[in-house]
Amino acid sequence: MVFYKCNNCNKKWQQPVSICPFCFSKLERIRTEKLKVIASSKVVIPSLLHPKIPYYALLIEDECGNKFAYKSMKDRRVGDSLEFASSDNRDAVVIWKANYDLLDAIENIVKLAKLEIRKDSKILVLPTLVEPVHNHFHENTSLEFLDAILTYLENVGVRKIKIATQSLSDKPIEILAQKSGLLDVCIKHKLTPFDLANSGFDNQGSIHISREVKENDLLLNLSALKSGKSSSNENAMRLIEKSNYEALRYLYSEEYIFKALSSIDNMFIFGEAIHPQRTDKFPVFRSLIFGSRNPVNLDAVFNNTGMVNNLPKYLRDTKVDQIKIIGREIDEVKRNIDLIL
Ligand SMILES: [Zn+2]
Repeated sequence: MVFYKCNNCNKKWQQPVSICPFCFSKLERIRTEKLKVIASSKVVIPSLLHPKIPYYALLIEDECGNKFAYKSMKDRRVGDSLEFASSDNRDAVVIWKANYDLLDAIENIVKLAKLEIRKDSKILVLPTLVEPVHNHFHENTSLEFLDAILTYLENVGVRKIKIATQSLSDKPIEILAQKSGLLDVCIKHKLTPFDLANSGFDNQGSIHISREVKENDLLLNLSALKSGKSSSNENAMRLIEKSNYEALRYLYSEEYIFKALSSIDNMFIFGEAIHPQRTDKFPVFRSLIFGSRNPVNLDAVFNNTGMVNNLPKYLRDTKVDQIKIIGREIDEVKRNIDLIL
């Protein structure tokens, strides 16, 4: 858990406010690790936001005396510690609730998935960039999330960061980057985004994948999750040479392309679902971030948490109850995405 403390007034906030509103001092960011249950209430009446019962509303206290509320499906006793097991299982999916601080969510997901990011890592960031529209439509990676990912990498001290994607439609990538505002975030972090179409491609069987994939240690696929879709796979398709992608789509199904993409073994997906779109494209507030090395599992778990029924067959066939879940539980965050705003 992260808190922001004014060392002058001794006040604390959970929200990432940069300066103290009382004395204008810069706040110190404090990470606390030891979490303990200090009160628990069992809830047996379902509501739109919490359809699964019973659940427990816990009051948690950390080692600095900060208190916050926490929803749990498990009956924890007062005095129990709240701990999260980590795993580097390739098919596992991390679920995290990003209450106030996206950077905190990213730090937790990296830790829980045992993702190795070193100062000397070469990292390729693949944002979702599909429509030339404002941030609030939530078609693309949000400006806040891209900013948090790049800030995280800078905080670790990573020097070799590349950011790239390509347009698989008739919309020029330069226009998409500019109109969405993502270009401004790149400039803020002194990065020049580039078009993967110019990167060169290697043949891997019938699929032609950007050479950038193997030239970097880690590929961060920032998928903007949308209900009823396999958004993480759709974003990974931007690594394929456009003419090859069009031929594959003509000859085979999307599922065939997704299976071919599973040969990429250095990809980690951050699935952004702070304001994911419903199937009618209306964005709703969910405040969730998902992490996984397996795009199909991540997309299936995301859709399951939103109780989305109308899914492509390969997502419908994915047995969510057999996927290892890390961090928050599915039932803790599950709600019908069509019934909320
Ligand atoms: Zn202050």
